[in-house]
Amino acid sequence: MATPERVVIVGAGQAGARTAQALRENGFTGGITLFGAETRPPYERPPLSKEALTDTVDDTALQVLPADWYREHRVDLRLGTRVTGASAGDRRLHLDDGRSEPWDALVLATGSRLRRLPVPGADGAGVLYLRDRDDSLVLHDALRRARRLVVIGGGFIGLEVAASARTLGVDATVVHMGKHLLDRVLPQPCGEHFRLLHESHGVRIVTGGQAGAVLRDGSACRGVELADGQRLEADLVVVGIGVDAEDSLARSLDLELADGIRVDADCRTSVAGVYAVGDCASSPEPGSGRLVRLESWHNAEVQPRRAAAALLGAEPPPTEIPFFWTTQYDTTAQIEGLLDPDCEPVQRGTPGDDSLALFQVRDGTLAAAALINDPRAQGAVKRLIERRIPVSAELLADPEVSLRELVKRARPGGN
Ligand code: NAP
Repeated sequence: MATPERVVIVGAGQAGARTAQALRENGFTGGITLFGAETRPPYERPPLSKEALTDTVDDTALQVLPADWYREHRVDLRLGTRVTGASAGDRRLHLDDGRSEPWDALVLATGSRLRRLPVPGADGAGVLYLRDRDDSLVLHDALRRARRLVVIGGGFIGLEVAASARTLGVDATVVHMGKHLLDRVLPQPCGEHFRLLHESHGVRIVTGGQAGAVLRDGSACRGVELADGQRLEADLVVVGIGVDAEDSLARSLDLELADGIRVDADCRTSVAGVYAVGDCASSPEPGSGRLVRLESWHNAEVQPRRAAAALLGAEPPPTEIPFFWTTQYDTTAQIEGLLDPDCEPVQRGTPGDDSLALFQVRDGTLAAAALINDPRAQGAVKRLIERRIPVSAELLADPEVSLRELVKRARPGGN
């Protein structure tokens, strides 16, 4: 396909902004329009559940790119504008102000939408969600008035909010439906480590629990009743039960879907000239090829560079393995690759130790790993995975064996 004259990006979040940046860095001189429904310039989300709750964070500290960058790089940033529909036949987008816009190439960076808690009483005062900057400002203030918090969902959002609440001295309980915390993405020992961490900070953890209703006294939130009848008192409820891909435009364009917008390794959708990046895209996992939708900061950095290169016919950047991290209190977990939550990982350490590492070995090489409080091992773990260096479970489990040494020894001539 010839280089397009004009690229339109829908979604002015991190992935949308990085796509515009990658296009310019690849030498694209044509028109770029970036549509965003929110009124703030693109910002990063990781601080929203952490320091933006415990401290006061300025909007400029969250920005993906300096506010002037868009003008200086001739990117037409159209904030406060929602794209309500799209038609593939005449390659036009329909906007909420009634106008329409043409595109030569289209990049969907539409992100994801929150799952709502489907129980009686959940729609009303005192029940909050956390997705965007406005949500985090509302929660920042609510945590300063709250005495008792119930968090529904023991994923990243739920646990990071619980940690922020405890840091502010709010009594907190986490209700999680699954058997162990973080079970959507991490194996049991990781969940166990975070359970012990939260309990040591005074958080009550209820696993296998499901919210049945939000209890109210008039309009005021009084607590949560679980499906088994147990009642938890609360004047504030935060719901973090996951997100779904925002795929409504993809549906109007008849794109192939697979828990999100199906794309190839270079972010091409099933329709020529249309790409998808970030939370909304399901792409083949490097190595296995299975389709995965990565809801992460790292993916919002990596996919835009691949999409921009593909769109301009440039050399694709090197493949990167997925990466996630979470910080709760003074504990940070770094996750390289995708761990199977149901695997029995090789363990270096025990949940509750100062540091813990979990490894998933496949076909004699390291497939993925989680490092808790061991940031210095991250580089070695990444190289072990990327270079498919043969490793044994015994060596990985042995705290006396240096991971860096395993990488070094695998180099030609290394010893
Ligand atoms: P999440 O990671 O999907 O975790 C939500 C958890 O809540 C899931 O384990 C889910 O179980 C469980 N759940 C679902 N319905 C429930 C219910 N009714 N009651 C109790 N538990 C229930 O989603 P999240 O924590 O809400 O985060 C939203 C998005 O932001 C995710 O994409 C997440 O990765 C991202 N995020 C990332 C970070 C980070 O990387 N540090 C931090 C914050 C947010 P099922 O899986 O069985 O539905």
